[in-house]
Amino acid sequence: MKRLLADSDLFHQMFDDSPAFFALLRGPEFTFEMANKAYLALIPNREPEGRPIKDVVPEAESQGYLDLLNQVYRTGEIFRGNAMPIKLHDPDGHERQLFLDFVYQPIKDDNGQVVAIFVQGSDVTERKLAEIRLIESEEKYRLLFQSIDQGYCVVRVRDEPGQALDYQYIEINDAFEQQSGVQFALGHWMRELRPQLEEFWFKTYRDVAVTGQPVRFEHESRDLQRWFSVYAFRIGQPDEMLVAILFSDITQRVRDQMELKMSHAELEVKVLERTAELARSNLELIEAKRIAERASQAKSDILSNTSHELRTPLNSLILISQLLAENPERNLTPKQRKYVDVIYESGQDLLMLVNDLLDMAQIESGVSLIIQNKKIDWQHLQQNINNSFTETAARKKLEFSIGMAPNLPKHFVSDERRLLQVLKNLLSNAFKFTKEGSVSLEIQPLAGRSSEAGDSVEFKVTDTGIGISKEKQKIIFEAFHQADTGNTRQYNGTGLGLAISRELVQMMGGTILVESEPGKGSVFRVILPCHLPAAERSPKQLRQLG
Ligand code: ADP
Repeated sequence: MKRLLADSDLFHQMFDDSPAFFALLRGPEFTFEMANKAYLALIPNREPEGRPIKDVVPEAESQGYLDLLNQVYRTGEIFRGNAMPIKLHDPDGHERQLFLDFVYQPIKDDNGQVVAIFVQGSDVTERKLAEIRLIESEEKYRLLFQSIDQGYCVVRVRDEPGQALDYQYIEINDAFEQQSGVQFALGHWMRELRPQLEEFWFKTYRDVAVTGQPVRFEHESRDLQRWFSVYAFRIGQPDEMLVAILFSDITQRVRDQMELKMSHAELEVKVLERTAELARSNLELIEAKRIAERASQAKSDILSNTSHELRTPLNSLILISQLLAENPERNLTPKQRKYVDVIYESGQDLLMLVNDLLDMAQIESGVSLIIQNKKIDWQHLQQNINNSFTETAARKKLEFSIGMAPNLPKHFVSDERRLLQVLKNLLSNAFKFTKEGSVSLEIQPLAGRSSEAGDSVEFKVTDTGIGISKEKQKIIFEAFHQADTGNTRQYNGTGLGLAISRELVQMMGGTILVESEPGKGSVFRVILPCHLPAAERSPKQLRQLG
């Protein structure tokens, strides 16, 4: 070491202590003439002095540096290397990666012949590694933003007074074009790319660049005909005016939402329309019901009012046919008498039918049926019924009896005409539907009290006729219902009798019940209270009560 520079201790010390490394390699073998501490530190424990470089630093040969030295030696031209990589193997086997800035400087003799090479340089490993790390992390970041589906870009905002606001695309990712719909953006200014773009975008990014406040928003660009979801934030130094923008095209989502809202609204409109329609048809229904009620009332009114007009001619017909049948002059032939009988019977039938219809009409109209109560004369009642059915019983060869309990209340009050109407109806049904056996009426106080004023009186009509099935029993009290429509021809009738009877019984405060078994006969019971409800009631009031 001291051989070349022994004359200056100071220079030697400076040279030796310098953070830069130095070495002098002599001759074509590049023998170490000298090396300072910094150089020795690069190759610890290798004792270079006087030895050729290929022995001291075999790595220099294997990694191409010997060739470089040879080149400098041969050409005499200086070589400068920046951050040249070299891997050195320590004695312990550890491999070190170094990066060196260095110069191979040829030293020539008086003939211009290269005799030695002066090596000087510095270790820049740390700086280089930091650079590599930076590049790697930038790469990662670039890769990340390249690979995301969202659009990503960095823009530089221009905000100079007197200049229109603008921004320039410094960086864009792969998804940028597809998401933004802006082509060839990199390096270009937005006003140049989209002259019609709304001022909103320029102003928003300028604000981010100036204030450093990140923004997140959803906004429509009419110019691009797209909706965007955007997150923009400032990067770099404030004076760089750089804004990073992450965005995605949400047009489809917004359209879907709008459609959804529209169909919701449409649905609501439909519901409202339906409701209005329903309300309308409800009103129409109410109106139709009112009209129907009015019509039915009018019909009932006409029927009940024409009662007189119908009955008068019928009664004349019956009366006159009866007189004719008596034939006091005895001048009718048997055939003529038979005709007269037919006229009489048909008249009777017709009168019954008309009476039923009129009663029903009166009951329906709910106004004019008035119960007229008076004390019932049991004997008179029995007589009346007896007179009405003895002949029928005889004609049909049926036993007929009327049983009256001895303890019937003496002051039983009822509307005799109506009571008779009910009982006669039940009895004529009993006769009508019985071919053989018997028909009977029993009248007795109920609750088994011995006193004459029992709680109620039961009128029981029993027959041994065709009977009524359980199912039919449910409907026979409804107007115009007959147990078997097939019966009508065999047993004539209107299906009104029981309906009228039930109404009348209810008006009199009582109930009517049936027990029957098909083929075995039927029992109809009318139960009337001994004390009538105080007021005489119209059928409608009664129905409401019932
Ligand atoms: P109708 O004018 O048809 O006799 P009703 O209202 O008096 O009308 O009777 C209704 C129906 O009830 C009858 O058509 C008949 O089918 C049945 N019915 C009533 N009483 C009897 C009975 N005693 N025996 C059998 N069926 C009866």
